[in-house]
Amino acid sequence: MKQRLALLGSTGSIGEQTLDIVRDFPQWYEVTTLTSNTRWERLAQQAREFSPDSVVIADKRFYLPLKEALSDTDVKVYAGSEAIGQVVRGEAVDVVVNALVGYAGLAPTVSAIEAGKKLALANKESLVVAGAAVMRMAAERKVPVVPIDSEHSAILQCLVGESSPVRKLIITASGGSFRDTPAEQLGTATVEQALHHPNWNMGAKITIDSSTLVNKGFEVIEARWLFGVEPEKIEVVIHPQSIVHSMVEFEDGAIKAQLGTPDMHLPIHYALTFPRRAPSRRDRFSFLEHPELNFLPVDRVKYPAVDIAFDCLRRGGTACCVMNGANEVAVAAFLKGRIGYLDIVKTISRTLERASFVAEPSLADYESSNAEAREIASSLIG
Ligand code: MG
Repeated sequence: MKQRLALLGSTGSIGEQTLDIVRDFPQWYEVTTLTSNTRWERLAQQAREFSPDSVVIADKRFYLPLKEALSDTDVKVYAGSEAIGQVVRGEAVDVVVNALVGYAGLAPTVSAIEAGKKLALANKESLVVAGAAVMRMAAERKVPVVPIDSEHSAILQCLVGESSPVRKLIITASGGSFRDTPAEQLGTATVEQALHHPNWNMGAKITIDSSTLVNKGFEVIEARWLFGVEPEKIEVVIHPQSIVHSMVEFEDGAIKAQLGTPDMHLPIHYALTFPRRAPSRRDRFSFLEHPELNFLPVDRVKYPAVDIAFDCLRRGGTACCVMNGANEVAVAAFLKGRIGYLDIVKTISRTLERASFVAEPSLADYESSNAEAREIASSLIG
């Protein structure tokens, strides 16, 4: 039987690549619902190609043009972020692919788990903000949460078949756009420079997060909750080639790694077929063509975000939620040219100093913590 997908964030980078896979394997997958934040024209094109039951445009301003564009089809058109929470619960959904960006991904993650749908998770912020609560809910309802993030997919692939405790998770980092830029030059870094990632072609927000290593800090938090591993057993290393996607060290000293070209199609498809593998016609990695793989320590002075993330993880409660909220506001301000590059991480630190802290948060506490963090960060930016 075909897997029926609800694809949240279908017009983004992960969404488009998920649709490549549906195109390659129409005998395995069908699309029940597609959602986009603002790109209604692309969403309408996708709806014509994949004939989902429904589409959702999160930004209500684009409801009418989208509705009009699909008026000669049977596709149901909804608007607003609440509608996303509803479509994921639909009868005709087996798997929710959550490729939303930012805090907005948390509510649909919760809805999918509540409805007992398998979750293929690219929205790392769901776990950054509320990882403890999300994984607890998923365990209670026996809902599989399978990561799409390449590092976490790699770790999962290393863990399959193992029952012994792990000694260490080793998360690799490309180093982002400013890997080879001296720290003193970061103060004048432009949006264009920051958006130029050396290895991966991704959306704007995650490309900026990669350049500050906020993304890597988030991935440490994500790994902690996905795999139940304590922060002191998680390590980050710079690996400029992005071929080793991450590694796991076991008690006996064995280290397993997952390697491949930097191409998100593999982790996306693995999340859908896990624990099996699917064939692929895409580029394969050749050791002989790229014989050199390097590993370097993270420069923790140049990239304070990694230690900020570890601190937030140790503090627990709403700390990671505050870090995420402040980062979202700061990255948006940087992309609009309102703050300098180094102000992104400064805004995160200052927001963390001022925000209130809830040690045992409920889902409602995360919501107010996120709102408060955004308010503080916005007022700091001015
Ligand atoms: Mg990643």
